[in-house]
Amino acid sequence: MTDSTGSPGEVAYPLTVAGVSRETSGDPPIAAAAAAARLTGGRVEAWPRPTRTRVLTVANQKGGVGKTTTAVNLAAALSRHGQRVLVVDLDPQGNASTALGLEHHAGVASVYDVLIEGRPLADVVRPSPDLPGLVAVPATIDLAGAEIELVSLVARESRLERALSRYLADQDAVGDRVDFVLIDCPPSLGLLTVNAFVAAREVCIPIQCEYYALEGLGQLLRSVELIQAHLNPELHVSTIVLTMHDARTRLAAQVADEVRRHFGALVLRTAVPRSVRLSEAPSYGQTVLTYDPGSSGSLSYVEAARELAGRTGEEREGTS
Ligand code: ATP
Ligand code: MG
Repeated sequence: MTDSTGSPGEVAYPLTVAGVSRETSGDPPIAAAAAAARLTGGRVEAWPRPTRTRVLTVANQKGGVGKTTTAVNLAAALSRHGQRVLVVDLDPQGNASTALGLEHHAGVASVYDVLIEGRPLADVVRPSPDLPGLVAVPATIDLAGAEIELVSLVARESRLERALSRYLADQDAVGDRVDFVLIDCPPSLGLLTVNAFVAAREVCIPIQCEYYALEGLGQLLRSVELIQAHLNPELHVSTIVLTMHDARTRLAAQVADEVRRHFGALVLRTAVPRSVRLSEAPSYGQTVLTYDPGSSGSLSYVEAARELAGRTGEEREGTS
């Protein structure tokens, strides 16, 4: 993926101002350059680690709202700033695996083996090739059958939770505590997403700043309440991320206002703008943080991750 033409694939750590994007983001180039210089500047600021592992499920049954983009880029930004991060790809599409540069063709050891065969998570965790401090569990197309196969298995809703708890305890025991776990869900509220809800404490909901953004959100919130009532009392929505925000349109501003009115302080102040670089990065098997660190998409996910890391994770609706 590297060549001699200065392709984005060459961008290496430590990042330098040379990696600043020429993307037309709306920011004046000098502002983007200054932001990237502050961000990279040769040394990277390490954010304080949480006092215990935070497990977030990135969910929205609506398709294409930015779940995967949010999961992998928040994960990359967190790991870049000193956090130990595990990404679990729980979507048969395997988009998070692609974005993290992991093999995920049929037959690769994956989250399917964990859920269906009861294999330990440690057996299928892979290091991300570009991001030190980030490991991930790939998903393969086998997972497409798991929704049905899970139905007849014992503890069908808590198979991921069991595997994850064991993995986290083992990591802790050897002094390698994981700080953040981000679980990327498929666009449905089936048993895979239920497994993610049972395994997590926090729900992170990406909301696309488009017309139908809030449709279906009630169903998602009711599912979280049901899981909370019956399977996982700790579960709560802690974080809302506004995605694909186009500052030039009134519609985006209206959607953002409505979401902020409803969810208050749960909504990250940073809205992720539309950025071509964000959509290009996965085709290079990369997150935007290595593909184009100075782009508006990269800078905004770093800011969003900074906010996330600065919170406790115990934020709840109505407590702001
Ligand atoms: P699915 O429901 O299929 O899992 P998703 O919710 O995970 O989708 P993504 O795959 O993250 O959504 O994003 C959908 C598409 O939009 C992808 O092509 C992605 O590259 C693109 N995209 C996501 N966020 C942005 C953004 N901020 N700017 C531009 N393109 C984006
Ligand atoms: Mg996805």
